[in-house]
Amino acid sequence: MKNIFSLIVVLFIFSSCGAQNTTTDVKTETSILESNDNPKLVVGIVVDQMRYDYLTRFESKFGDGGFNRMINEGFNCKNNHFNYVPTYTGPGHTSVYTGTTPKYHGIIGNNWYDKEIKEMVYCAADDNVTSIGTEDKAGKMSPHRMQTTTFSDENRLFTQMKGKTIGVALKDRGAILPAGHTANAAYWFHGRDEGSWISSSFYMNALPQWVKDFNTSEKAESYLKEWDTFYDISTYTESGVDENTFEGGFKGKEKATFPYDLKALSKDNRGFDILKATPYGNSLTTDFAIAAINGEDLGKDKITDVLAVSYSATDYVGHNFGVNSKEIEDTYIRLDKDLERLFQYLDTTVGQGEYTVFLTADHGAVDVPSYLNSVKVPAGYVDNKDRKVKLNAFLKETYGGEDIVENISNDQIFLDRVKVKALGLKLSDVQDAIAMEELSYPNVSKVYTGTTMSTTSFSFGVEELLQNGHNQKRSGDVLIVNDAAYISYGKTGSTHGSALNYDTHVPLLFFGKGIKHGQTFDKTVIPDIAPTISALLGVSFPNGATGQPLGYVID
Ligand SMILES: [Zn+2]
Repeated sequence: MKNIFSLIVVLFIFSSCGAQNTTTDVKTETSILESNDNPKLVVGIVVDQMRYDYLTRFESKFGDGGFNRMINEGFNCKNNHFNYVPTYTGPGHTSVYTGTTPKYHGIIGNNWYDKEIKEMVYCAADDNVTSIGTEDKAGKMSPHRMQTTTFSDENRLFTQMKGKTIGVALKDRGAILPAGHTANAAYWFHGRDEGSWISSSFYMNALPQWVKDFNTSEKAESYLKEWDTFYDISTYTESGVDENTFEGGFKGKEKATFPYDLKALSKDNRGFDILKATPYGNSLTTDFAIAAINGEDLGKDKITDVLAVSYSATDYVGHNFGVNSKEIEDTYIRLDKDLERLFQYLDTTVGQGEYTVFLTADHGAVDVPSYLNSVKVPAGYVDNKDRKVKLNAFLKETYGGEDIVENISNDQIFLDRVKVKALGLKLSDVQDAIAMEELSYPNVSKVYTGTTMSTTSFSFGVEELLQNGHNQKRSGDVLIVNDAAYISYGKTGSTHGSALNYDTHVPLLFFGKGIKHGQTFDKTVIPDIAPTISALLGVSFPNGATGQPLGYVID
């Protein structure tokens, strides 16, 4: 009797195990990763220094397959802004992918003064890794200073590291920060006399074969050719005259006018680095992005991969020639062709409607102030050269200490807190005194202290943007805001960094799988992008995200 009972129990266990196995098999086959209806590939595109008005100003010059395809098929957020300062490349790329601002992600500038080690640090530099693909230190980079996760990190965690992430840009920080901490790889361009795509030991021990093949293909070399306008220059009615006093140009050429013989000019302009300040830098980036899709099999299975592409050449061209130049117009006309080529490649390899793209910028840029002056708009230049000496003299007279100001960078003043304490002074009193003094200087519009940023909550205006950019551990003691269109920069070319609309208003386009067709003038902010993509994929928001998913964008 006992044996029969045991047999029944054993049979029951076996049969239920069998049933469980069947269930498990079915579940495995329909695993969420394999059966979901997510895009096979998310392509994030950041166009460095792209102002919103480039979409509208050059619209008639664009074809149907690039920017206008995204607008005509996808969703156009027309009132999209950065919601912090400073508006620079490192913080910009980080904020797009982490869904938050420097206050939380910690990338407070491209370079900043590190209060602990009392030295300037670069956002992506990392002495603990080695260069891969070059002997130069240009590869000693990683995202270690970024303190929160990106949506690409969350996608990696969600997919048990099966969904890949690859970052690509001419600039190291444009590739590394978007790709996140868990990326399979980030690649950037090393110019000089090498002209090759490199990486760091943070990701790998050696370049994969497809990168080596790309580097030996002489693609970069092929772009050292003549740069003339894509269409007849007389049709470029959306930009200023070609010859003017507002442009920098290249060393070795007297006038900043078309055409440019890049092969000849490369000798005086750091070799292959000259490509960075021409539209061919973006074409080369497109070539490499396509090689990455092919080499890494991105978008080949149902597990979502992420390709983060940043087009850096637009920034170099803007800094060199200014936002109203014929060179900028031609650069955007040609970028439109590169985007068309990229989307066509994605259509044929990943499949039309199987991938999702977003396009935005890392900051905008101001019209060249000397040009604005010539058309009567208030603008100008601030000279920060003697500021530290001047402030230290003021502080010595007021409090008696030497060299209390340690560093001034990114419009922030850093104090020697040990000296402040040794003099028996209250930090906030010294900050207030400096703020009042600064406000008396020409073209200083507003000044706030770090203490105010930490003790008051702002929800509007430049104060809100300063607060979102203010990281208690890393940012300065006093924050300076210049008058509109007053920059600390040379007299030619454009720059960026402020809380004004020319720096904050940038495009935000979504298109492809899971995206509605439409447009909005409702305000959106850069940190909304990452939660929107996270929501589309059903993955966790980046851990520090403060933006909100744009539900009306998702189908
Ligand atoms: Zn820039």
